Amino acid sequence: MNLSGKVAIITGASSGIGEATAKKLAADGAKVVLAARRAARLNDLKQEIEKAGGSALVVETDVTKSKDVKQLVQRAKEAFGPCNILINNAGIMPLSYMKNVHVDEWLKMVDVNVNGVLHCLAETLPDMVERKSGHIINISSVAGREVMMGSAVYSATKFAVRALSDGLRQELAPKHNIRVTCIEPGAVATELTETITDDELMEDIKGFFENLEFLNSEDIANAIHYAITQPDSVHINELQIRPTSQG
Ligand code: NDP
Repeated sequence: MNLSGKVAIITGASSGIGEATAKKLAADGAKVVLAARRAARLNDLKQEIEKAGGSALVVETDVTKSKDVKQLVQRAKEAFGPCNILINNAGIMPLSYMKNVHVDEWLKMVDVNVNGVLHCLAETLPDMVERKSGHIINISSVAGREVMMGSAVYSATKFAVRALSDGLRQELAPKHNIRVTCIEPGAVATELTETITDDELMEDIKGFFENLEFLNSEDIANAIHYAITQPDSVHINELQIRPTSQG
């Protein structure tokens, strides 16, 4: 097994890409720490992973709360040891037209998609730097490279995740032997679009979704696994993965 004994913290592990990634890494020997708010779904996933012979720990976590994230990293360390792989995956995407001023959703998106990543970095980086080893995977998006109708705030958060990844890489890789990979998925079939409440926008972008053959979460889990399992001397900086049908 490539990841035997490695400790991987995965935020947003209760569904979609996070869930698929947890299964993929656990199947390759990693001890996975499952973080999200929906504890019941995390517990089901833990059982599934353990049934297949893997190791998993559930820590109910809201990534916007620094005390939750502190507890996540502490409990992971107590149960499995220091974090080798951090997967900043938790995210929300309530797309909307700016003119419809969904202010609460804007702020919540910034809080989960950007501040959540910062809280997780704050709790894991000092230890990784001290041990001169670690791998940080940040989930940005194709929307972190280009803005689409209704994605202004979401894209702003995902541009931020890409900027953070670049800054982290420059600072941490050569000097501290910590790898940083930014994953930029296109359309993946998950629960992500369920947070959209702007009916006007939804009506306008319906056609875009209808004509797409979405990726599966497992396709992104495979990309993450590929980046993590390269030899230590190989640093995959960015991976952009779209469905073939997405332009
Ligand atoms: P899902 O909605 O299936 O998963 C989102 C995850 O984030 C859930 O596990 C959810 O768990 C978690 N989450 C949301 N808010 C919080 C919070 N405050 N604290 C902790 N966890 C939270 O969607 P995806 O799997 O698609 O999304 C995963 C990542 O992939 C996101 O960052 C998304 O932006 C990105 N992405 C997705 C694409 C797609 O097309 N699906 C394309 C490009 C990027 P819970 O509700 O239990 O807390």
